[in-house]
Amino acid sequence: MKAAVVTAFGESLQILDRAIPEPGQGEVLVRMEACGLCHTDIHAAQGDWPVKPTLPFVPGHEGIGIIEKLGAGVSARVIGERVAIAWLGYACGECRFCIDGRETLCELQQNTGYSRDGAFAEYAVVNARFAVPVPEGISPADAAPLTCAGLTTYKALKVAHIAPTERVAIFGIGGLGHLAVQYGRIMGGSVIAVDIEDSKLQLAKDLGAEHGINAREADPVAAIKDLGGADVAVVLAASPRVFEQAFASLNRGGRLICVALPADQQMSISIFETVIRGLSIIGSIVGTRQDLAEVFALHASGRTRIIAEPRSLDQINESMADVASGRILARLVIEY
Ligand code: NAD
Ligand code: ZN
Ligand code: ZN
Repeated sequence: MKAAVVTAFGESLQILDRAIPEPGQGEVLVRMEACGLCHTDIHAAQGDWPVKPTLPFVPGHEGIGIIEKLGAGVSARVIGERVAIAWLGYACGECRFCIDGRETLCELQQNTGYSRDGAFAEYAVVNARFAVPVPEGISPADAAPLTCAGLTTYKALKVAHIAPTERVAIFGIGGLGHLAVQYGRIMGGSVIAVDIEDSKLQLAKDLGAEHGINAREADPVAAIKDLGGADVAVVLAASPRVFEQAFASLNRGGRLICVALPADQQMSISIFETVIRGLSIIGSIVGTRQDLAEVFALHASGRTRIIAEPRSLDQINESMADVASGRILARLVIEY
């Protein structure tokens, strides 16, 4: 099978011919149909974060495909079923986080396309318990971006506890942002979109944002204040400066939801402002299998739209360069 493999950080991925993996105990073999390209795959290939993947590895954690083979002891999934392969590739099921519904905090977790080989390959092996069924009526090309971009932003807005009277500012209208705008609306907020490309701001408006601010042309903090300030600010652009702008745009009682994962880890936030103005700073990491089921249900009922462009696995390097440069309107999806 063909697989896109990271063999050295910061270098092009190599398209290699590899043996189709065998599903072990509790695992299933999935023939990939589609896999979205998340900016996290670019951070992984660059080795941007303090905890790095072990080389060589196959990125890709928005994988959608059909189960072709069951490993020993698999009873929950069947051959022929369409499943999603998300970032959370394994969690222990026994620790306090797994038990209280916060499996994405499990200390024994494994992450697809990072600590386990991912879905930028014609086949992938996944733990059967973490292969999430894709409901009828959702195409593989739509299901792929929902599996990380959708899941992550749905959860980020869920933990923000938006009231219908509140304004939500979304910083970064890329793969994640185009879905964040839609969930912000679904959860009842009014949405302000911030990006540095006019095409993305227009897309955000088409998807329900009331205002668009080009941060290259105007100071987004002043512009958001002019609109009455943000009660929730979600950061989806990988730059500490954007986190600081999002923080500064908050009203009293506001929540800063940290989602993007820049290589540079430090932001500067005023303790005084945080205390006196009653602000919350919340980190949000992907979502649970239940959150993904909810994301799929919303899409199956026609409440969300996916904006994505198809690419082939052979185009993985140019695709990563296109996403990194901001040339892509929302998401790229590798189709097999
Ligand atoms: P993307 O490249 O598709 O989108 C980023 C967007 O930010 C682009 O539209 C870009 O134009 C915009 N942008 C760049 N600079 C900006 C600025 N100064 N102000 C406003 N907007 C600006 O990336 P993505 O796939 O949507 O991922 C976004 C980030 O979220 C990445 O860092 C990724 O690793 C991270 N991520 C986190 C989680 C999580 O669970 N916390 C999950 C998935 C992705
Ligand atoms: Zn992702
Ligand atoms: Zn656990």
